[in-house]
Amino acid sequence: MHDILPGEQPFFQKVYTTASNIANFYGFKRIDTPMVEEAELFSKSIGLATDIVEKQMYTFRSKGGDYLALRPDFSASIVRSYIEHGMFNLPQPLKFYSSGPLFRLERPQAGRFRQFHQINFEVFGEESPVIDAQIIQIFYNILKELKFKNLIIEINSIGDSQCRPYYKKLLVSYFRSRESSLCSDCRRRLRYNPLRILDCKEEKCQPVKAQAPQMVDHLCEECKSHFKEVLEFLDEIELPYRLNPYLVRGLDYYTKTVFEIFEETEESQRQDALVGGGRYDALVKLLGGKDTPACGGAAGVERLVLAMKERMKKDRVRFLPVKSIFLAQLGELAKRKSLKLFEEFRKAKIPVAESFGKDSLKTQLRTADKVGARYALILGQKEALEGTIIIRNMRTGNQETVKMDKIIKEIEKRLKK
Ligand code: AMP
Repeated sequence: MHDILPGEQPFFQKVYTTASNIANFYGFKRIDTPMVEEAELFSKSIGLATDIVEKQMYTFRSKGGDYLALRPDFSASIVRSYIEHGMFNLPQPLKFYSSGPLFRLERPQAGRFRQFHQINFEVFGEESPVIDAQIIQIFYNILKELKFKNLIIEINSIGDSQCRPYYKKLLVSYFRSRESSLCSDCRRRLRYNPLRILDCKEEKCQPVKAQAPQMVDHLCEECKSHFKEVLEFLDEIELPYRLNPYLVRGLDYYTKTVFEIFEETEESQRQDALVGGGRYDALVKLLGGKDTPACGGAAGVERLVLAMKERMKKDRVRFLPVKSIFLAQLGELAKRKSLKLFEEFRKAKIPVAESFGKDSLKTQLRTADKVGARYALILGQKEALEGTIIIRNMRTGNQETVKMDKIIKEIEKRLKK
């Protein structure tokens, strides 16, 4: 679990503002659910035999005896809320977005944290494949707005309760005959969660996986045409995708479409997914609601921030918003007047930087330079007495004196230029 220090906050803010603007545009309403839920909500929805529930949930018993968990995922909580508040009675589809912290007891490694943040989009009550495409499009657009390049969508269909059981049987019988060639984790998965063998990263399992039957060849008519239409929509909006028959994702509740979005970089061909999601048509019913199709996805904020920071280092771009004005003061009376002037700038909505605690003009001008100020306003003892102030052009070093009561107007004029 990490502290998010002030230096990192602008990156997080940028991600949240971008997501919220896009959410507004596409008509998604914000929903916030508690960080703590009954543990059963997650074991029931994500699945008992998944890594998240089996190994990664932070669970505890409350003083009242309830068995609770810190949320490892958004969708289950939002489905719970949808059912609890009778939202199926409202005109469908309903479109929600959320952001906030999630908790998973992961093995610590780059890009994997135990407390991390996601932005999450969900649509309830719409079975059309156009929604699957729209969810993907939304995340793609968020990444584009955040200046990600070389994005690739990986997509697969994992069928539904009609076709998956048969495929699972095929898969189990295939892997069973080759059990000795599987890693120890996969031998266990064979019993509890055979689909997960497909996304095993162990070297040993790769040749066995490569020959395994693929879900796309065993989809029922409905799942097949749904998948085909999702791909046609993606073609239509010209999003770059690649079919990945091994993409199954780590949560049990998915049906039909599953997807992930990656940024392909030169340094390494394989990065962690920035975004993951899919359709979960059976989840609302499973958790006690009416039969309601649903689809969603989530982006990991830390992963986006990590990549944004890397890019900033490489391109040497300045990311922090610069303050154009720096207010420097010299002497007791000037300091007092500066404090008042600072307030006037706030009311005029002009961001100003200062270092009121410093007395040396040289130090203050150095700071002005560091924050990227275009103009430093210098208020010395003489100016404070005369009711004037000096405007220093930080680039040229030119200085001119103006009347104090004209300074806001003067700065407004110069900033507009
Ligand atoms: P998931 O909820 O597992 O479908 O993951 C969706 C996205 O959340 C991933 O693509 C990652 O960007 C992010 N994510 C998942 N787990 C972690 C983690 N432990 N630490 C940081 N980001 C994560």
